[in-house]
Amino acid sequence: MCYNGRAMKTLRQCVSDARAKKIAIGHFNISNLEGFWAVFNAARELNVPVIIGVSEGERNFVGVRQASVLVRSLREEFSFPVFLNADHTYSFDKVKEAVDAGFDAVIFDGTELPFEENVKVTKQCVEYARSVNPEIILEGELGFIGKSSKILHGIPAGVKISEEFLTKPDMAEKFVEATGVDLIAPAVGNIHGMLAGGVDPALDLKRIGEISTAVSIPLVLHGGSGNSAEDFLGAISNGVSIVHINTELRVAYRKALVLSLQENPDEIAPYKYLKEPRLAMQKVALEKLKIFNQPNKKL
Ligand SMILES: [Zn+2]
Repeated sequence: MCYNGRAMKTLRQCVSDARAKKIAIGHFNISNLEGFWAVFNAARELNVPVIIGVSEGERNFVGVRQASVLVRSLREEFSFPVFLNADHTYSFDKVKEAVDAGFDAVIFDGTELPFEENVKVTKQCVEYARSVNPEIILEGELGFIGKSSKILHGIPAGVKISEEFLTKPDMAEKFVEATGVDLIAPAVGNIHGMLAGGVDPALDLKRIGEISTAVSIPLVLHGGSGNSAEDFLGAISNGVSIVHINTELRVAYRKALVLSLQENPDEIAPYKYLKEPRLAMQKVALEKLKIFNQPNKKL
């Protein structure tokens, strides 16, 4: 448990606790208030820390400063360790905007840039963020895992799961040393989105362990939708301290929304017909949080 009734732990402390206990903090993306409450209610039910993520598209829709205020309002009102992350941010200016708005964590995604350029901009983001808020957490990315959080009918173009395209431990070590990031998201067989069959390819657990040893900072697993509980536990015991889930929440929301509208054709009050879709997302978040926070048998 992160909150002990007296002092609220920072995200940095929660990540460090998760790493020590070999569990992971769940990171769930939201696009609206339903998602915001769904994730918070799931975390509260289990009394575990949680991270709400908003990508550039999601925060354009929710509002950058509005997302920041919403999450802070929950943390303060409920004295609960809920944090906000600026997911995949593709420019220094967008990183600056999130830092200035009071986000707890920011990811600069330079995976489409050449290695040296990725290092340069990531380092610039780290330096700026630390100058504004020494507690903020900066995540860098190395290796390309695709962009979309949707149902995929094949491995997306540009995503290479064959070994030569996965993140190499020595490059990850260089990247972390040169940039000073707090967290690193590697390409370890994970993909954004979820394959139509519902089961993604297995993760390269050995590589996760090797990268973790090389970098000595916590790893973040992106594209967790579609991965098995066994893979999650293996990844966590090998050094992953945060797991991202987006697609599965989106699928649950949409399915429940369609059903809710069909079953209540005359209902026009959004707070009534959006209740079930919100609960559907909460259920997915709860299931994932139970896996991420269970005592890891693979220790
Ligand atoms: Zn991601």
